[in-house]
Amino acid sequence: MTPEHVKCLIIGSGPAGYTAAIYASRANMKPVLYQGEQPGGQLTITNEVDNFPGYPNGVNGPQMMQDLEAQARRFGTDIRYGLVTKVIFAEQPGPGNPHRAIVDDKYEITADSVIISTGASAKWLGLPSEMRLNGRGVSACAVCDGFFFRGQDVAIVGAGDTAAEEASYLANLCRKVYMLVRRDEMRASHFMQQRVKSAHNIEILYNSATEEVLGDEDVSGVLVKNTVTGEERILDVTGFFVAIGHKPNTDIFREFLDLDDNGYILTEKGSTRTNIPGVFACGDAQDNIYRQAVTAAGTGCMAALDAERYLVTLEMQGEEIVH
Ligand code: NDP
Repeated sequence: MTPEHVKCLIIGSGPAGYTAAIYASRANMKPVLYQGEQPGGQLTITNEVDNFPGYPNGVNGPQMMQDLEAQARRFGTDIRYGLVTKVIFAEQPGPGNPHRAIVDDKYEITADSVIISTGASAKWLGLPSEMRLNGRGVSACAVCDGFFFRGQDVAIVGAGDTAAEEASYLANLCRKVYMLVRRDEMRASHFMQQRVKSAHNIEILYNSATEEVLGDEDVSGVLVKNTVTGEERILDVTGFFVAIGHKPNTDIFREFLDLDDNGYILTEKGSTRTNIPGVFACGDAQDNIYRQAVTAAGTGCMAALDAERYLVTLEMQGEEIVH
C-alpha cells in the first residue's frame, strides 16, 4: 500500500510546532502535525506564564497551548494524536524521493518537508531509588505534583531558574522546602535567587549531593552528603523534586541529523535548516540557549517560512522533470 503523502509534516506540539502549523496552514502547505507523547509540550506542566508578549495579566500554560492548538486548527492544520517513533530522511530528497516517518511503530507517512519541534524532557539524577519511587513521591514537575504535598516537608534538587521557580511554588504549598544545590552558588538569575532566599520556609543547602532517595513504598527521606565536609544527613521529607535541566527529544534523528554534544539539533546560522534538505528544526530541540516559549514560537514561524521556500524550489524541480 502506498503510504499517505503530505507536503509538510510537523513533529511535536509545543509553541514551536503550533506556530509552525499556523504559518504552514496559512501558506496552504496543508500540514499534518503529530502531537507526540505530551500534547502541548512542556508548557502544559507550567502554571503561570507571565512573560509571553500579549498577555498583560499572564496566562496559564495549558490554556495557552489550547489557544495555540485552536489557532492552528482554525487554519486547517490536521492535528493528530500519535508519536513519531522512527524517521528515514532522504539524503537527496526530491520529487519521488520524499522523507519518511513511522508513527506509533506502525503507520508510515511520507513528506516533502519535515519540521521538527519535539522539544526537550526533564533530566533525572540517575539514582535507582529515584526511578523506583518515581510517581510515589519523586517528581520532575512541582507544578503538576506539588499539590499532593500540601503542608508537608519536601526537597528539590537543582539550582537554575527552573529549580528556583519550582522551589518558590512549593514554598506556597508545603511546610518546608529544602533546596539542594551541588555547588557553593546557584546558577539561577539574581531575581529568582532573591525570591528563593527571601522565602521563610526555603532552606538552601549548598555543596549538597543527593546520595539516595529513601523509602519502600513512598518517599520517606533523602540522604544528602556535604561534598566539602563529607558529612551525611537524612532530610525527613515526603516529596523529592528534580529540577536539573532538560534533554532535547532528538534521539530518533541522531542517525540523520547533525547534533551538538548535548543532542541539540544543529541548524544553519540565522535559519532553521538542518544538514538534510527539506528538514527544519525549531524550538527547544535546537535551542540550548534561550529555551523560552516566545523564542520557540519565533523559530516555529521561521521553520514554516523556510519550509515554504523549500517547497517552492521542489515544485519547480518537479515541473522541470515533467517538462
Ligand atoms: P539549567 O541548565 O539552567 O540549570 C540546571 C541546574 O541543575 C544547574 O544549577 C545545575 O547545577 C543543576 N544540576 C544539573 N545536574 C545536576 C545533578 N546531577 N545534581 C544536582 N544538580 C544538578 O536548567 P533550568 O531548567 O533551570 O533552566 C533552563 C533554561 O530555562 C535557563 O536558560 C533558564 O534561565 C530558563 N528558565 C527561565 C525561567 C524564567 O525566566 N521564568 C524559568 C525557568 C527556566 P550547576 O549550576 O552546578 O551546573
